[in-house]
Amino acid sequence: MNVLVLGAGQLARMMALAGAPLNLKISAYDVRSGNLVHPVTLEVLGQGLENGIADADVITAEFEHIAPDVLDVCQASGKFYPGETAILTGGDRRLEKALLDKAGVANARYQVIESREDYDSAIANIGLPLILKSALDGYDGKGQWRLKPDSDIEAVWQDIDQFLKTSPQGARQCVIAEEFVPFDREVSLIGARNAKGDLEIYPLTENIHTNGILSVSVAAGDNDAVQAQAEAMFKAVADTLDYVGVLAIEFFDVGGNLKVNEIAPRVHNSGHWTQQGAEVCQFENHLRAVCGLPLGSAKRIRPTAMINIVGQVTVPTDVMGLAHVHWYDKAPRPGRKIGHINLCADNAKALGEALQEVANHLDDTEFPAIQSAAETLS
Ligand code: ATP
Ligand code: MG
Ligand code: MG
Repeated sequence: MNVLVLGAGQLARMMALAGAPLNLKISAYDVRSGNLVHPVTLEVLGQGLENGIADADVITAEFEHIAPDVLDVCQASGKFYPGETAILTGGDRRLEKALLDKAGVANARYQVIESREDYDSAIANIGLPLILKSALDGYDGKGQWRLKPDSDIEAVWQDIDQFLKTSPQGARQCVIAEEFVPFDREVSLIGARNAKGDLEIYPLTENIHTNGILSVSVAAGDNDAVQAQAEAMFKAVADTLDYVGVLAIEFFDVGGNLKVNEIAPRVHNSGHWTQQGAEVCQFENHLRAVCGLPLGSAKRIRPTAMINIVGQVTVPTDVMGLAHVHWYDKAPRPGRKIGHINLCADNAKALGEALQEVANHLDDTEFPAIQSAAETLS
């Protein structure tokens, strides 16, 4: 089967690597250049979305910030999973918040901001601190403002107003104001749903972010108390979208009660641990779901942690003796994810010790959260 992926980054690359044993031929459409490329070598295979669609049996996406006209063409082909609505919803916080409300899942209180009046009323109604997020094009914490009790309310508005006036999205762009959730930790749930509505759901992953970018994910121990809550919310959201593929949901855990932060209608960075830690990884399960193949088991086979490699950093070869290193063949730039490290152990305590050992080989300013991840396991 031929699968066309919208987007030619590391997620398409890892889908292609996972799909090869299934005889799936993956090509990627680079939305910026308009080229059809091989997702691993990035060799140019052809040009134009229409050609890619004609050759594909199935179309999917590795990211959600895709222009509506591209999504329209893919949807019209009848081959696109999870489909236009799911991708648009994941890429627009206004639609995303409406979906969460429709599915009846708890999420941070919010208000849509299109004017100074909206901004003032959000401050009055929700109160401070407040997190403001651009509705479109936000990722890795970009396009966000934080309003604290001592912030300059006027200056932040000037910044947001400027952002709205100059957004390349024009009138489609807006800002969502959200209550600040005083979470104990952040967790995410990754699962696959097929067209019949069958689910394969991975165990919750605990995530530590640094400056808005994921640093470390840990899938270990049991989260029994919140796993069932997360799975019920996952099912509600996935069923509401009649979703086909892998879906990720990020949650805030507040004293054992989960609130959804956001969703990602695709394979997710916090699911990379499944490459070594689960019976069937998220990339393979996504392909199985969108290609109409039986889903694979999402069972965790051993406690696993994932450490992101971000920016211009060095990973000594020694680390390969301790862990699985995955490179994306991307040029290092500040803030850019260029690879990750998966680390496995027989139990949670041993995983904490293994994290400590890996940390000894890495610069702790380049890899800031390993220590705190290890502490969650001790
Ligand atoms: P991603 O790369 O995960 O898509 P993003 O740019 O969409 O990131 P969010 O996940 O919305 O951003 O926010 C980034 C981080 O900021 C969250 O992981 C969390 O740590 C913090 N954060 C976001 N919203 C809130 C909130 N309402 N209350 C408290 N912290 C928040
Ligand atoms: Mg996001
Ligand atoms: Mg997020």
